[in-house]
Amino acid sequence: MGAKKKLLSFEEVAAKYPNFPRLLLLKIDMHRRGVAYSDRALSAFDPSVHQGGGTHIFGTRDGKLTSRPEALTLRDGTSVIATPTPFDQNPYVVDLIDDRLIAHDQNEPIDEVFFWEKPDYYDKRTSSGAIMQNVVSARPQRLYIVPNRYCHFWTQDDGGGGCKFCDIVNNLKTQREEIEMPTRIRIKDVGETIDEALKEKGRFTAIALTSGSDFHGEKPFDKEVDFYIEILQAIGERFDTERFPSQLICTALPKEQIKRIYDNTGVTSLTYNIEVFGESIFNEICPGKAKWIGYKEWKKRLCDAVEVFGASRVNTGIVSGVELARPFGVKSEEEGLELILGEAEDLAKNGVSSVNMVWQPRPGSFLGASHNQTIGSLEYYVRLAIGLQEIRLKHNLSIDFDDYRRCGNHPDSDLARVFQ
Ligand code: SF4
Repeated sequence: MGAKKKLLSFEEVAAKYPNFPRLLLLKIDMHRRGVAYSDRALSAFDPSVHQGGGTHIFGTRDGKLTSRPEALTLRDGTSVIATPTPFDQNPYVVDLIDDRLIAHDQNEPIDEVFFWEKPDYYDKRTSSGAIMQNVVSARPQRLYIVPNRYCHFWTQDDGGGGCKFCDIVNNLKTQREEIEMPTRIRIKDVGETIDEALKEKGRFTAIALTSGSDFHGEKPFDKEVDFYIEILQAIGERFDTERFPSQLICTALPKEQIKRIYDNTGVTSLTYNIEVFGESIFNEICPGKAKWIGYKEWKKRLCDAVEVFGASRVNTGIVSGVELARPFGVKSEEEGLELILGEAEDLAKNGVSSVNMVWQPRPGSFLGASHNQTIGSLEYYVRLAIGLQEIRLKHNLSIDFDDYRRCGNHPDSDLARVFQ
């Protein structure tokens, strides 16, 4: 074994990549390392004004749910979707200095950050008594709906196994105990909440749906498909147009099933998250997806979906960094980049875009529970973001349905407003 390569610091990476936006660099590093809040910063968090944590489909890095800010915004409108992280894991620390929230890297002030402002509808209740933020949450300019928070891949008998970076079911158990979170939402609650949300004119740009996988039904996943159709139809009734700005993030479905959703609803874009590239790593990290669909079939279904939605309307997400996880992953970051960019290029030729999330190991997940995984370097994520955006440009793919205003969880698609 050779000597361990020294990781470049934030400033060293900034100097090496002068054209890379500094605030996006900060966002990526905050996603890698997480954030923690000083008591002074938390004193500035006002639950009547700011959006609090707890409603997200996934949990936090410190395993706690509520009473903190949901997330942060930077000075240029960039969203930072980094979860609270224990101080001993070297997170960025947000402190209150002269009435301004400042992110610090090891006591060095880096930049100003802002809490997200809570939508007006958040604390209202539907006619059934559900708290509206538990029916539809905000991110912060996109409405975010989780129809079903249980993922059936986690069932021991026939599910195959949940993805090893994922904590959805463990997070749901805490949500049910602490914040009245339903496992499946009621269609009527969704309609009433969307009605309230749309009263806040100009705030929201799109609506996204995402769920745990459900393979039940006459044909596998029919039950998941039927539920999406019901909800999307209820939302569609609120719009005068045939289609409305929307994204469905779901299990990779055969063409006839996704066509059924497209033909019967107003949905406009589609995401099948493959989570990790490379068939053998996918089989290890995503055993449920491997059992019920398979890696090659997942890619095929992405390409088939372009025939339904059109090019630049279909993408896949990867939990980048998990391809480096021990003992399944590739052996080096160079290998990781080669793997990801090669597979992304292959999909882009067929009109499918690839976007990355930064892996944030959470204690409620298989890989996060062991605490002995190392995360990718900051430079790795910079090269990845540039590489993925360059592939989109080369293949003339737009990512406007999953960019910094819609989702905010993908460093590479944040770049789309700069590298065009
Ligand atoms: S498919 Fe995988 S990532 Fe998605 S909810 Fe299920 S276990 Fe989690």
